[in-house]
Amino acid sequence: MKNVSEYFGSMVFDDRVMKANLSARVYRSLKKTIDEGAQLDISVANAVAAAMKDWAVARGATHYTHWFQPLTGVTAEKHDSFISPSPDGGVIMEFSGKELIKGEPDASSFPSGGLRATFEARGYTAWDPTSYAFIKGKTLCIPTAFCSYGGEALDKKTPLLRSMEALNRQALRILRLFGNDTVKCVRTSVGPEQEYFLIAKEMYDLRPDLRFTGRTLFGARSPKGQEMDDHYFGVIKPRVAAYMEELNEELWKLGILAKTEHNEVAPAQHELAPIYTTTNIATDHNQLTMEVMQRVAAKHGLVCLLHEKPFAGVNGSGKHNNWSIATDSGVNLLSPGETPYENAQFLLFLCAVIKAVDDYQDLLRLSVATAGNDHRLGANEAPPAVVSIFLGDELNGVLEAIESGKPYNGTEKTQMKLGVDVLPLFNRDTTDRNRTSPFAFTGNKFEFRMLGSSNSIACANIMLNSAVAESLKIYADRLEGAEDFETALHEMIRKTISDHKHIIFNGNGYDDAWIKEATERRGLLNYRTTPDCMPHLLDKKNVEMLTSLGVFSEAELKSRCEIMLENYCKTVLIEANTMVDMARTLIAPAVEGYTLKLAKTAAAKKALDPGIACSYENGLVRRLSALTDRIAAGAEELESAVTALCMTEGIIEEANTIRDRILPKMGELRLACDEAETLTAKSDWPFPVYGDLLFGVR
Ligand code: ADP
Ligand code: MG
Repeated sequence: MKNVSEYFGSMVFDDRVMKANLSARVYRSLKKTIDEGAQLDISVANAVAAAMKDWAVARGATHYTHWFQPLTGVTAEKHDSFISPSPDGGVIMEFSGKELIKGEPDASSFPSGGLRATFEARGYTAWDPTSYAFIKGKTLCIPTAFCSYGGEALDKKTPLLRSMEALNRQALRILRLFGNDTVKCVRTSVGPEQEYFLIAKEMYDLRPDLRFTGRTLFGARSPKGQEMDDHYFGVIKPRVAAYMEELNEELWKLGILAKTEHNEVAPAQHELAPIYTTTNIATDHNQLTMEVMQRVAAKHGLVCLLHEKPFAGVNGSGKHNNWSIATDSGVNLLSPGETPYENAQFLLFLCAVIKAVDDYQDLLRLSVATAGNDHRLGANEAPPAVVSIFLGDELNGVLEAIESGKPYNGTEKTQMKLGVDVLPLFNRDTTDRNRTSPFAFTGNKFEFRMLGSSNSIACANIMLNSAVAESLKIYADRLEGAEDFETALHEMIRKTISDHKHIIFNGNGYDDAWIKEATERRGLLNYRTTPDCMPHLLDKKNVEMLTSLGVFSEAELKSRCEIMLENYCKTVLIEANTMVDMARTLIAPAVEGYTLKLAKTAAAKKALDPGIACSYENGLVRRLSALTDRIAAGAEELESAVTALCMTEGIIEEANTIRDRILPKMGELRLACDEAETLTAKSDWPFPVYGDLLFGVR
């Protein structure tokens, strides 16, 4: 086996390859585009395309694709081969700068939420040179943005890049105010921790619910779940270890910095975390990671479930979005500095985040809202649907001291004064303990923990970057016009703390008492479901913020709101239809079959000896018959509720009806079926049960 450093990034057209394969002039020009967003001229594009093609063909590639992220939440690709006929009847391999820069997939079937009329089906894809091209299988993949001909974004990458640019612009204004004239750009970085389940392929194949919806719609609790806490960080089983080994190799070849792997809390649940990198690259990498996870699983006879709640009764899967802001010279702006002045700057950025999270709780909440994640937020393992910030006692103490003008008791200093006092050094261990907060400061970064495991991290980061850019914009506007910078700065930080401290909560986020306090006393938002939060995307304050920063146009926001609600409705409806189908064609017949066996047994016993009471069989037959009736009625009612949806008007009403009428009916049908499962012979049950699924991989 080769050394990792020898094959790391071997499938990526990265800086090393560019340097080696491009002329000095072309390389310099491309670097300028990558680092500073400079326009790329066509001669450079042609040279880059030729080098990319030669490099890819030498590694066995026959095709190229513009790889993009439409609003389906997964990635899309349409392959074109490099071949071009030559006069002698053969072919040559060709790839032009034009083909590199722009593609025109026939994209009429991607969701556009009304942005692109079907007669004008052609959106176009545009190369994102800041994210490296890579080879997957036999295809050269070129990361691209996807837009309509009117220029509206039809994907997740375009607004993400816009939000990074917005944050960059505003952060630079602040840094200039602090006398920093050398920084050229500010970028956010993300390290997403990815949770997933691994189950045996042969069991997965037997469950229509897993195949159609990614989660189990039925299933009684297994006698053992996660109560022993013996899976978390437990010894990794050989089959899983072999999977992780191959997964790492595949990710490393793609230049993805897969770093940490371990078992998670639920049985069959695991986690993978990469080393953090620039947000748009981290986003591309996370999409690729999810794809590779599933592909490698198939090779090992396994299935990787990325659904947020594949199993009731054990933890679901999330994604922790570790986020920080850094300058091009590598200074982390969320890291407390070593001098009082740096600390004042740190506190300003910290306050910008606090203000952003408070002002745009709704946007953060809805950026992670999907039908799948609704099962998780608010359940006992995930952060609640209420957004709050954890800062830790130490930092909290500092903020309180600033707000009240009273001494900070962690030091001997009499009074915190910005630009004068040195902050205490934060001990990472003390800031990192709270695992129940949706948004936790962890020493030099924030960890946003509400993301669902299957979410693209683009959505959360678009909102986070934009909201923080907005705070910084307000700060910069005020400070640039201030007579005395330090006084204005101090006052602004103090005011932010006093205005927004209600969002700071250092206690247990899973506690019911907290939800009560948060909503009743502090007035924080508690949007429990996707239909509750999604329409707020179009609230005036949100539209104003996002359009004024140039992250979205109003038309784009409307279309996204529509698409997200459509996704919600479609997801739940597929689940409802799958339930009706499974209940009628698998579960009810299985229960009937077993009931018949019991009845036959009782009859046989009676024939042998009329005096035998057969109370076991009779009792069970009665209970199972009642359950079969409930199952049949439940399927009927669910089906009618689905049919009645055609009476609703508009997507918001449809989504609300699904939440209020369909989901409860699904719950009732499940209850009856799960009870029947516990009373039916295992040999008669038509598909693998929880115990088999959760403990089936050894
Ligand atoms: P845990 O939350 O399990 O304690 P770690 O401390 O290992 O996890 O970090 C989790 C993730 O945070 C990793 O992906 C790591 O690369 C990322 N991370 C660390 N520092 C930063 C930073 N400054 N900015 C963004 N992400 C970071
Ligand atoms: Mg974490």
